[in-house]
Amino acid sequence: MLWVVKRAHVRSKDRGSKSGGLDRALSHLDTRKTGAGWGPPAAPLYHRAAQKRDTLGCGNKGSPMLIVMKAHATEEQVRGVCQKIESLGLRAHSIPGTQRTAIGITGNETDLDPGIFEEMLGVQEVIAVSKPYKLVSRDVKEEDTVINFSGTDASFGGDELAIIAGPCAIESREQALTTAKHVACAGAKFFRGGAYKPRTSPYSFQGLAEDGLKILAEVRDRFGLLIVTEAIDNESLDLVEKYGDVIQIGARNMQNFSLLKRAGRARKPVLLKRGMSATVEEFLMAAEYIMSEGNYNVILCERGVRTFADHTRNTLDLSVVPAVQRLSHLPIIVDPSHGTGKRNKVTPLSRAAVAVGADGLIIEVHPDPDRALSDGKQSLFPEQFDQLMAEVREIARVLKRSIAGPVADPQARRPVTASAGSAAAR
Ligand code: PEP
Ligand code: MN
Repeated sequence: MLWVVKRAHVRSKDRGSKSGGLDRALSHLDTRKTGAGWGPPAAPLYHRAAQKRDTLGCGNKGSPMLIVMKAHATEEQVRGVCQKIESLGLRAHSIPGTQRTAIGITGNETDLDPGIFEEMLGVQEVIAVSKPYKLVSRDVKEEDTVINFSGTDASFGGDELAIIAGPCAIESREQALTTAKHVACAGAKFFRGGAYKPRTSPYSFQGLAEDGLKILAEVRDRFGLLIVTEAIDNESLDLVEKYGDVIQIGARNMQNFSLLKRAGRARKPVLLKRGMSATVEEFLMAAEYIMSEGNYNVILCERGVRTFADHTRNTLDLSVVPAVQRLSHLPIIVDPSHGTGKRNKVTPLSRAAVAVGADGLIIEVHPDPDRALSDGKQSLFPEQFDQLMAEVREIARVLKRSIAGPVADPQARRPVTASAGSAAAR
């Protein structure tokens, strides 16, 4: 028998239009505003959705399944179901809610009989999810995922937009510290900068590698900024995980499946950039790779796709933001720097990205863009970043969201606890 999940297109960020009627219809299943992102298998994701039995179905053809536990199911009963799943050689993803736990099952290559679980103590319903992506889908978790960082008030996917700013590449300690101080004063809570650069030409600047990561760790210690930096292969990912707070997977690596799996085993959130020619489904499937390995803290990032248009470096596809938000609970941010490739277009597209409902921005800023070792043409002068922040703050307000205000002394900010990248979301 096939069970189908009917999607509920209600976003907590569709403030004002949130459907009380649908909420009531769904009230047999509980929801919660995710507090700390999804944890590792012991404390992870969650689900709420309307469900409907499709009596015409006759098997789920290897579809990952979801088991919804009863409201008063005990921990032991949840554990019992997880053990049952694992005894079948499958993977259990426990998804706690405020009153109810759901358990996702992945790894089944053939039909699973829902009857295996239906009669187990504490089980309310067994559902097969109908999309190729499962853990990413709103079918499995209706409410927005919010990724928090312990010891800070920074987050992705909450009411406040996440602003990531900094140079394309870390070029020197002085360049990084000067930029960091400026963007922190302007209200950014995340600092970007590549220590490993995926360059089109092997002769271009490739990044400072671990020395660059050490500079980034100093930025965090001095200014309380959380570090977003790219890993380009498994080896660099080990180091990025050690020094950084968010592991960036670049557009060129969006379908590097072994790297995605390694990121899925990391203990830090992952910022996944959309590939240059990736469809929404391919983009979400890349996120699914990460989540299927147990890392539920994934942030999506639109950074422009290749089109015939040649007035910009890429074509920033802002329509993907509401498209993704309809399908997935994951936060999605926008990169207008790579999306346009031109400094004069970064602020207008940042305004548009906030207006379209993005959960944040990632912006390249350089103290001397004309001498930058990479992406100088799209890097803002620091003062331009101040102006951008002032403008997008106003737009966020209209949407009943917020962007942190300027701070006089970022040094006075509480440093992120325990350096070497321990400010993870779990
Ligand atoms: C970057 O953020 O510096 C970068 C290389 O981005 P992308 O992967 O989107 O090209
Ligand atoms: Mn760049």
